Order: sequence, then C-alpha cells, then structure tokens
Amino acid sequence: MQTENVFEVRGLTKTYRTGAGEVHALQGVDLDIRRGEILVLLGPSGSGKSTLLNILGGLDRASSGQALFDGQDLTRASDRELTRYRRRSVGFIFQFFNLSASLTAGENVELITEIAESPMSPAEALGLVGLKDRVDHFPAQLSGGQQQRVAVARAIAKRPKVLLCDEPTGSLDSKSGVQVLEAIVGVAGEAGATTMIVTHNAVVADIADRVVRFSDGAVAEVVANPARRAPSELKW
Ligand code: ADP
Repeated sequence: MQTENVFEVRGLTKTYRTGAGEVHALQGVDLDIRRGEILVLLGPSGSGKSTLLNILGGLDRASSGQALFDGQDLTRASDRELTRYRRRSVGFIFQFFNLSASLTAGENVELITEIAESPMSPAEALGLVGLKDRVDHFPAQLSGGQQQRVAVARAIAKRPKVLLCDEPTGSLDSKSGVQVLEAIVGVAGEAGATTMIVTHNAVVADIADRVVRFSDGAVAEVVANPARRAPSELKW
C-alpha cells in the first residue's frame, strides 16, 4: 500500500528491563515520516533516537504502540516478516562502518546484494559514492571517510525504500563527514529512499527537509526547513 507517509508511528513505547530496573527509552512517540524526505533526528544522548531508528528498521521491537510501514504494523510482525522487511526495504548506516576487514570494498557491497532482489552492481553503488576506483581495496587501505562511503554504497545497493543512519558522521572529521553526507543525500535521491539521520551534531540539521527534536523518549518538536542546504555548505 503506497500512502503519502512511509511510516506512521503512534504512541510508541519501549521499556528495557535491566538488572538495575526499567529504562523507559521511548515514552509515546507520534510521528509521520513522508515518502522521500530527509529527516534529521536531534536530541540529547539517551533521549531515544537510536531506539526509534532500531524499531523502524526492524532490529528491535517496541513495547507498545504502533509503527506502520506502508500500512504494515512492525510491532505485530513475526520474526520472519521482520527479517524479510529488513532485507527488502531497509538500508542501515552505523557510526562505526561495520565493514568486513577481510573483504574488499566491492565484496563488502556484494555480500548484501547477493540476498537482494534487484540490486545495483557493487561497481555501480561504489560509483555513486565516488569510489569507483576503490572497488578492490580492503578497508584498511581506505580512510575512515572512504570506509563510511563504502558502507553507504552497501546500504543503498539493494535499492531500499528507507535509509536509516545512526550517527553516520560521528567518528569522522568535518571534511570526511561532509563527503559522507553528500554520499548519503546523493544516493538517497538516486534511489528515492526516505532517509532518517540520527545525530548529535546540530549543524547537520540544515540538510534535512524536517528536523525532529527528541527529549525524554518523545518527540518534542518537528520543524520544517524552508530549504535544504547542500552538505558542502556545512562545517563543524
Ligand atoms: P539516543 O540514541 O538518543 O542517545 P538511545 O535510544 O540509545 O538514545 O537510548 C535511550 C535510553 O535507552 C537510554 O537511557 C539508554 O541507556 C537506554 N537503552 C538503550 N538500549 C538499551 C538496552 N539494550 N538495554 C537497556 N537500556 C538501553
């Protein structure tokens, strides 16, 4: 079912039970995410941004509430359905790249495209992030920013509907971070992927269509930017 919103989140809660007691990571999140938009999620550490991203990516389960993806309630999906959803529809980018050290850039991308339905070739995906000439390089032969761009290529190669990025520039200097954001914005546009970027770097908010501010496990504010800025205009 194609609606204007890719995700419709209602009253979403997540409680972690730990030895020290309960942690209320999400305390009733309501949010609509529009098809094709770039959303930046800001907020203090521990306010629940990653938890929301993980639930929307099918990596974790909510405690209560609804999270509809194209009408399918992820909170009620079976493990099998969630696996299928992740495989088909979601591209992930994490802070620490998570590349296999023993595989080349091309092989790291290929690992994911092997299980996808109509993927790009590794060369095409790496071309989109400006690394066509690095297909045969191993992660150790690439800079941090280049490694993260391989991760961007890997995430987009299966043409996911949503691209979920958790602190994608968190371990990079400003220049590499800008290049990674350019790669994310570029591939998201190319593949028409709805993109969510969790960051604690407020400067990054300028590349968003809308900025979501988290506080204490809930959405405190959603602000639409009048215009998106190009990542190349950012500096931190
Ligand atoms: P943010 O991404 O905004 O920094 P998180 O979503 O990572 O916040 O965390 C929200 C809260 O949930 C924090 O208090 C964190 O310690 C807690 N939390 C996250 N994951 C777990 C977990 N697996 N077990 C217990 N508590 C967790």
